[in-house]
Amino acid sequence: MNLVHLLPVGKVDASLLQDLRTAIPECLPVVCEIFPVGLDPAPAYHAERQQYHSSELLQRMQVLVRPQDWRLLAVANVDLYIPILKYVFGEAQMAGPCAVLSAYRLHQEFYGLDRDDGLLRQRLLKESIHELGHTLDLRHCEDYRCVMASSHSVEWIDLRESTLCDSCRSQMESNIALAR
Ligand SMILES: [Zn+2]
Ligand SMILES: [Zn+2]
Repeated sequence: MNLVHLLPVGKVDASLLQDLRTAIPECLPVVCEIFPVGLDPAPAYHAERQQYHSSELLQRMQVLVRPQDWRLLAVANVDLYIPILKYVFGEAQMAGPCAVLSAYRLHQEFYGLDRDDGLLRQRLLKESIHELGHTLDLRHCEDYRCVMASSHSVEWIDLRESTLCDSCRSQMESNIALAR
């Protein structure tokens, strides 16, 4: 069975990881485990932006990938960016083994709203499936309800389902067969 290893980056709420560990296999044909050690995000911090460069985190994850890890999904709670954008919710290696995402901008509190753990968990799950989709070479989908739709704000994430549209699903199934 394909193993998705969840890698905590810095301080991440353990219950959020446990939730993903249960929820991801309900959406994709994978098993999910939590990586025994975490990744320190500090070397990817850029003081001039007060943010963490997600591509640098992806790079540092490469040495952690072991033969039994089909996919390595890093879960952070810091503000991620790539140089051409103000921020990113996550980044993945296209057809690669690694992806990273952050809960930082998925919290309602970030937007000055009341804490909503249920909503946070849904958003994290959708982002996880989305980034794992990219690692299976899926591109952004035109269907705004599909989990592979692009999202520039949390409102767009909330519009998505946590599932793939029919077209993305069949593409993912054939890509999973190839990536085994
Ligand atoms: Zn994307
Ligand atoms: Zn789709």
